[in-house]
Amino acid sequence: MATVDLPSPRTRPAAPEEALARDLTARVDGEIRFDAGSRAAYAVDASNYRQVPIGVVVPRTIDAGVEALAVCREHDVPVLSRGGGTSLAGQCCNVAVVIDWSKYCTRLVSVDPDARTCVVEPGIKLDDLNAALPGRLIYGPKPATHVSCTLGGMIGNNSCGSTAQVFGKVADNVRRLEVLTYDGLRMWVGPTSEEEYAAIQAEGGRRAEIYRGLRAIASDHAALVAERFPDIPRRVSGYNLDDLVPGSAFDLARALVGSESTLVTVLHAELDLVTEAAETALVVLGFDDVVAAARCVPAILPHAPHFLESIDRVIVEFERAKGVHQRAMGALPEGHSWLMVQIRDDDADRVAERARALADELAGLEPAPRVLTVTDPAEQAELFGIRESALAVSARDPRTGQDNYEGWEDAALPTDRLADYLADWTALVEEYGFTQGTAIYGHFGHGCIHTRIPFDLNTPAGIAEYRSFMERSADLCVAYGGSLSGEHGDGQSRGELLERMYGPELVRAFESVKALFDPRNRMNPGKVVHPYRLDENLQVGADYAPEQPATAFTYPSDDGRFTRAAERCIGVGRCRRTDGDVMCPSYRVTGEEHHSTRGRARLLWEMLRGHADSPIRDGWRSTEVRDALDLCLACKGCLSDCPVNVDMATYKAEFLHHHYARRPWRRPRSHLSMGWLPALARFAAPVAPLVNRVTSSRLSGLLKRAGGIDPRRAIPTFATPRFSHWYRARGPQGSGERGEVLLWPDTFTEFLHPRAGADAVRVLEAAGFTVRLPGDVAQRSSTGGGRRELCCGLTWVTTGQLDVAARVLGRTLDALAPAVADGMPIVGLEPSCTAVFTDDAPNLLPGPRTDAVAAATTTLGRLLAERAPDWTPPDLTGREVIVQQHCHQHATGGYGAEAGLLQRAGAQVEVLDSGCCGLAGNFGFEQGHYEVSVACGEHVLLPRVRAASPDTAVVADGFSCRTQIDQLTPRRGDHLASLLAEGLPPEPLPWPM
Ligand code: SF4
Ligand code: SF4
Repeated sequence: MATVDLPSPRTRPAAPEEALARDLTARVDGEIRFDAGSRAAYAVDASNYRQVPIGVVVPRTIDAGVEALAVCREHDVPVLSRGGGTSLAGQCCNVAVVIDWSKYCTRLVSVDPDARTCVVEPGIKLDDLNAALPGRLIYGPKPATHVSCTLGGMIGNNSCGSTAQVFGKVADNVRRLEVLTYDGLRMWVGPTSEEEYAAIQAEGGRRAEIYRGLRAIASDHAALVAERFPDIPRRVSGYNLDDLVPGSAFDLARALVGSESTLVTVLHAELDLVTEAAETALVVLGFDDVVAAARCVPAILPHAPHFLESIDRVIVEFERAKGVHQRAMGALPEGHSWLMVQIRDDDADRVAERARALADELAGLEPAPRVLTVTDPAEQAELFGIRESALAVSARDPRTGQDNYEGWEDAALPTDRLADYLADWTALVEEYGFTQGTAIYGHFGHGCIHTRIPFDLNTPAGIAEYRSFMERSADLCVAYGGSLSGEHGDGQSRGELLERMYGPELVRAFESVKALFDPRNRMNPGKVVHPYRLDENLQVGADYAPEQPATAFTYPSDDGRFTRAAERCIGVGRCRRTDGDVMCPSYRVTGEEHHSTRGRARLLWEMLRGHADSPIRDGWRSTEVRDALDLCLACKGCLSDCPVNVDMATYKAEFLHHHYARRPWRRPRSHLSMGWLPALARFAAPVAPLVNRVTSSRLSGLLKRAGGIDPRRAIPTFATPRFSHWYRARGPQGSGERGEVLLWPDTFTEFLHPRAGADAVRVLEAAGFTVRLPGDVAQRSSTGGGRRELCCGLTWVTTGQLDVAARVLGRTLDALAPAVADGMPIVGLEPSCTAVFTDDAPNLLPGPRTDAVAAATTTLGRLLAERAPDWTPPDLTGREVIVQQHCHQHATGGYGAEAGLLQRAGAQVEVLDSGCCGLAGNFGFEQGHYEVSVACGEHVLLPRVRAASPDTAVVADGFSCRTQIDQLTPRRGDHLASLLAEGLPPEPLPWPM
């Protein structure tokens, strides 16, 4: 075999980037992004590494992607094909032109249900594919990132997931691939019979050359492949030469799976499909330690588990410290390490019988594990949630704040040697002093162990220790007959270590394969073969010294540092899901990386890095960061839905605060008109009819332009009288037997929709409470005070006017103190304002005064559930109700109490899984946001409201949600209080329904 001499991967492209960008723009049907913001957003994946790309191409069609590669070839620049960008070994960042297939090339091209196959484009997400497949057909391998990982990326990585236990890896579930080489050869590949091989050779040319070369390499190394390729189900490291050796099917599709964009670009894939049995049981086994758990695995495998997963003590401690999955963790059998075994079958009795047989057999082991068998699907999902959260929860130790890293991430061992390996490896972990924070979990049924380790990647000594640990772990893994990677590929984390696993000759063979496909080393260079060192291009590294700017928020969960907050994102891409929960509405409608939570977090992080190589160097003044944050709806979806609780609404407010500091004239006009809404409303209220006439007259266009409001939006009308004036004139009524509550008169209830406030008063009084307003309580208290205008400061928070917000909020906290001191609960009707008290205030103005207000603040539903559980709500028997849950409520406690209240009233409630309504306070009113705002609403909410029968009540507690419904459907949304009040004795109110 001739030795291979490849150009160094560090060679920078010769072509000037401007010319490259110009040619791509001229010839490629797609988005060509060479701007600083895009390059920053694509500089990292979910690994330890960071490399700023040359530029990004988002092709609109497969052919456009082919053309993009042709242009890159002409300019002799490296390329990297990318899907969801969730790779954990560094294979999805590079100094290359990144071709992002995930936005447009997402088609399910065809399905053949009889043959159980389909053809897809590379950018389709796994969950989207499975949702689009007919009947019960699914694609078998299911990585934990299934909501966002793309089929192209899965093929690049040879992905697996828990279901690989029965369905195998991606390589086992691919029939054919259409691929493109760097030099432009486009071909379908798959198993190759002798006749096909002969025909290809007869045709000659580049294809024949590749096939011939591969056959020669594989034949020359067949003996070594037999000797050095571990015979285990999760051998993911290296190129799949075993699919090319004599005696194999000479299957190029299988061979190219897992090549991590270093050999070819995948244009289409023909996939095998499977069905899953419907009935399941989960058997959870508790052990004293991880070694005991691993030792039990061979006894479980004959029971044909659908998956066999593991979690250890550290994962449970982390989740406990974070307060997640508490109920499920209470149900775990006693132990310090657990296995979760899913039994699946089409018959429920058979499932139960198989689960029982497994438990009986394990009871005879010495020592026997503690066993819990669960058949209820919801309980199974809750328990398995502990395992599913493992990657995200293990990224940072919630007890110490120490970061945990990938690196030694996914070794795979023969299952019968797993326990002995783990005994030695955990001793190694202890020797290096990593035991305290190291999390161990994984797919033990396949011998695959995931770990996150508290490496110190910030100092030269720590980085040297990281290298040493990686090398010794690799040697140990190889000694036990394992694979360095059993799931996430080699990339940069393990590329350098391949020689330890395969020996120099096989690694030279891999290099020969690379040279056959990509002789100029332009496909994702420096990954898998001719690799970068595992300790270079680190995201952090010894010279990592990010800025630590003074901030308005105090970031109590991030050591008081904004930079720590911006470092939270671990890149696993749940914010790129297209359905379910709230996060991230702007990504859902734009499909843009930099309009996802992850993209924004990365731009902020690049802004704070302060390195000379960072694409963003102008700090808080950065227009790239401002533009990426512009379409953030501040919905707080990420606060609850992101596994590491990235709180982009807060970061956006912080950024805007600094971005416009000392130059308020640069602020969008909407920051004045809507940011100062509470103040404007006070002036407008006394002359509300006149103001309403003007804002709905021909002058409205002018007013909207002046206020930065989109011309298609109607300006909400001011009500007469305002809520508190009505209430003070009316006075409290009812028995008041349950005591006093303080009703928070938020700006929207007070000035725009007082009917919701009045209905809440009536409901609270019917339930036995006496309603007080803040000024009244302050007035009667010894601290004095009075009927000052109060506001939580929400609109100043969302527009990043944080000095004003802090002043306004501080005044309000003072005014609420007497009521809180009296033990009065504070009932919020508007979820955004309630969330200011419970979530924003402790971050902006921490202290006992704030904590007391936050603890006292509740919602109408929660108050009634907790303080009036025996109250019989008005009868809504049989009434169908659909609910738009406000996204701030979703993020800060959920709608459970409210839904429960409606159910107690007899209503048939459906809380829509509709995400953010799209209006989101000022967002949907602002110029430039209308299309995104409407598209968010049209995702689920608005079509569901339009389709609802006229008798179905539409409940939306947020003023924004009601406005979006009012303005874009023929229906009206009501506050929960108004629906309940319908069943109370009528009371004449001064406002129309
Ligand atoms: S923002 Fe959260 S959900 Fe999105 S990639 Fe980062 S960690 Fe994952
Ligand atoms: S606050 Fe909402 S829109 Fe903004 S990043 Fe988070 S989920 Fe996305």
